[in-house]
Amino acid sequence: MRGGSTSARSGRISVPDGAAAGRVAEPVLCGGLTALTTIDFPDRLSAVIFCQGCPWRCPYCQNPGLISSTGAGRLSWAEVVAFLERRRGLLEAVVFSGGEPTLQAGLATAAAEVKAMGFLVGLHTAGPYPRRLAGIEQVRDAVLRDCL
Ligand code: SF4
Repeated sequence: MRGGSTSARSGRISVPDGAAAGRVAEPVLCGGLTALTTIDFPDRLSAVIFCQGCPWRCPYCQNPGLISSTGAGRLSWAEVVAFLERRRGLLEAVVFSGGEPTLQAGLATAAAEVKAMGFLVGLHTAGPYPRRLAGIEQVRDAVLRDCL
């Protein structure tokens, strides 16, 4: 990922603040990306998109940098899509995690785009907006409770 770095502990890719400058409206705000994981979607090789922002603000959060909906270190959606294009045929699934993915107004659009690329779609949610789950019912393959 251009201009990015990878945390040795989490494997998450992030880009510095300046990379977000000039961005047009995004379907989701991305706080980071794990390029490969074997544990976030059952029995599938997957990538994880970390959505920026969470309304719960738990004091024990493992990803406190993702709580603010205006937090730093975002990837553009175009960068995420470009990454996934390079992983077609290698990865089987893409998981939207966070933060809280159902906070994102464009989650259904983003999930549909990922699905159209041939990936299974997973969702990690702590359930603050249950009605929004219906909006991605047609494209998601797994919903996994998270955090709470
Ligand atoms: S619900 Fe999860 S992501 Fe949100 S603040 Fe709590 S632990 Fe963090």
